[in-house]
Amino acid sequence: MNTITPENIRTESIKNLYQPFGVSVDVLRLDLIHPAISGNKWFKLKFYLEKARDLNKKGILTFGGAYSNHIAATAEACRLSGLHSAAIIRGERPDEISHTLQNAEKAGMRLHYVSREDYRNKIIPETEDKDDWLIVDEGGYGDEGMRGAATIADLVTGKYDHVITAVGTGTTLAGLCTAFTGSGCIGISAMKKNLSLTEAVNNLLPHKLKDNFQLYHDFHFGGYAKWNAVLITFMNEWFHLTNIPTDFVYTGKMFYAADTMVRSGYFSMGARILTVHTGGLQGNYSLPKGTLIFDDLSG
Ligand SMILES: *Cc1c(COP(=O)(O)O)cnc(C)c1O
Repeated sequence: MNTITPENIRTESIKNLYQPFGVSVDVLRLDLIHPAISGNKWFKLKFYLEKARDLNKKGILTFGGAYSNHIAATAEACRLSGLHSAAIIRGERPDEISHTLQNAEKAGMRLHYVSREDYRNKIIPETEDKDDWLIVDEGGYGDEGMRGAATIADLVTGKYDHVITAVGTGTTLAGLCTAFTGSGCIGISAMKKNLSLTEAVNNLLPHKLKDNFQLYHDFHFGGYAKWNAVLITFMNEWFHLTNIPTDFVYTGKMFYAADTMVRSGYFSMGARILTVHTGGLQGNYSLPKGTLIFDDLSG
């Protein structure tokens, strides 16, 4: 049976790969938690699920794009929690709906396709009664999301000088910042020039932790969900060396960034680095078959 099992999560050392550079690198394998609610998404959702139940809501209504891991995760997490789910999807319903949305529908999520403008304005179709739902922002952004992401740290026993994660809305980075206060938290943006991220993260953080993180914007490979041969080659090579599959939207870019930073001497000698594998492997279904050598491990 598909259950949500944080017990599957483990930390793997890939020291050998980076020993020549004088640092140690561990990977926190959040991708192992569940095939559909992969990685950081369950952590971001857990307090929303609790809140929906506490407030006697029918379920969660949220927002996302056609390939959103958050939509896939919300649908499945609600199903497993005995809650309903609905989502506002950006853009018209295409003839062939994405693997992500097919799975969301299978999990019982009701999908509403809206124009980009309505999406931006967070318009909820009149066919939905707003009071039925706990309404959750795109990507689970918000205080509950941050507090949930902070509990990722409960799974970590080692001490680290740096914690690195991929960034979409910044909710996970904010959560990690509040939990790993003794480490430098580093976020790798999956988007091109999303310079409002600093503010988005700071808006979640308590006063004393504001600006207590680093964000890098140079590893987007052309923009959100864009990819090229360099990224794919890296992801395949990385899998070959570590046996760790990555996704092309977030974690492939994050590991590429971490690898580049290590090799360029960004970290000081002896630095202990934790990279957070935030999951997202189901997104690889939208790549042409055969692009990745680990296709069959995705989702
Ligand atoms: C959603 C997602 C992220 C981004 O998380 P935020 O909390 O929105 O910054 C990172 N990695 C993966 C694999 C994701 O699916």
